[in-house]
Amino acid sequence: MSDAGGTCEYVLDPTEPGTWGGAEGDRCFVDDRQLDGGVWRCPREVTSGERLCPLHRPVDRKDDRAAVDALRRELSGDGSTKHQWFGARFGDLDLSGMAIQARTVDLSHARVRGDLSLDDTTLDVGYLSLSGALVTGESTWEDAIVSGYTVLAGTSVGGPARFDRATFEAPVDLTAATFGDGVSFAEARFDGECTFNSAIVGGEAAFSRTTFQDARFNGVKFEDVTFDGATFGGDIEFEGTRFGGNTTFADATVSGLATFTASAFFSDADFTSITVGDDARFPRAKFTRSLLLDDARFGSTLNLNRVEIDGDLSVERMQFDGELQCFSTKVAGETSIESL
Ligand SMILES: [Zn+2]
Repeated sequence: MSDAGGTCEYVLDPTEPGTWGGAEGDRCFVDDRQLDGGVWRCPREVTSGERLCPLHRPVDRKDDRAAVDALRRELSGDGSTKHQWFGARFGDLDLSGMAIQARTVDLSHARVRGDLSLDDTTLDVGYLSLSGALVTGESTWEDAIVSGYTVLAGTSVGGPARFDRATFEAPVDLTAATFGDGVSFAEARFDGECTFNSAIVGGEAAFSRTTFQDARFNGVKFEDVTFDGATFGGDIEFEGTRFGGNTTFADATVSGLATFTASAFFSDADFTSITVGDDARFPRAKFTRSLLLDDARFGSTLNLNRVEIDGDLSVERMQFDGELQCFSTKVAGETSIESL
């Protein structure tokens, strides 16, 4: 099977979702600049008798381990390479422990039927993308270090996702990512801006002691979520965000603005001992249960205008240097303001 049999017949056409594992109406994340004549054609050679290269052949029609080995070999090239594996298909994709140098590693719309592992992997890359990729099993990036701009927009993970202690040295885009069985970024570090806008997290989301700069979580749907002890070096935005379960920002520190406009909290919201350097804005936020702001410190204005709290509000020992705005604030339960 070593005879050259021509070029892989895989063609990705953004207007044909079937070619990249999408459904009608889904967004294709492959950039126009990567296309030639409106499509992307796989440039790989195939062995005789095959139409598709090992990366594009369906998992049950190939030696999956050999396909991953082929990819690992390609990844061991020098740092000038631009790797593109749009629509590649894998059983398990284990790239753990690798030291990868490349201009680009782009696995947009890749489909991993099993688990993806990048544990302990160093990616010295200009650009890393798994946008629109589908991982049916687990996705683990524990202790991974990524130097370049990272795009996980529209990526979907069916099993648990763990990024504990991972470091992202450049901006990260997780817009509209979907995590079906929880996600953990415990003690991870984002050195650049981080965007989770419109992401959906089923199960528990953990950002315990995570370090961020500017971070946007607008329109995210969370169930239980913790940001306990997280540090934000810039501004945070949680506009229209849905906190479906228990939510804690206890002991978190935000250097800049904290915005929670029109966000909705469906269980207890614990902001105990949070420190916000600039304004904290909660206008039109809704709290189905209690809001705890005990020992919180606000360096500027605390805006609770038109906030509705169905449970109790506790602001014991809360400190603020600016104004407290509570125009049309409604608290159905008790308000504890001892030592305010
Ligand atoms: Zn191919």
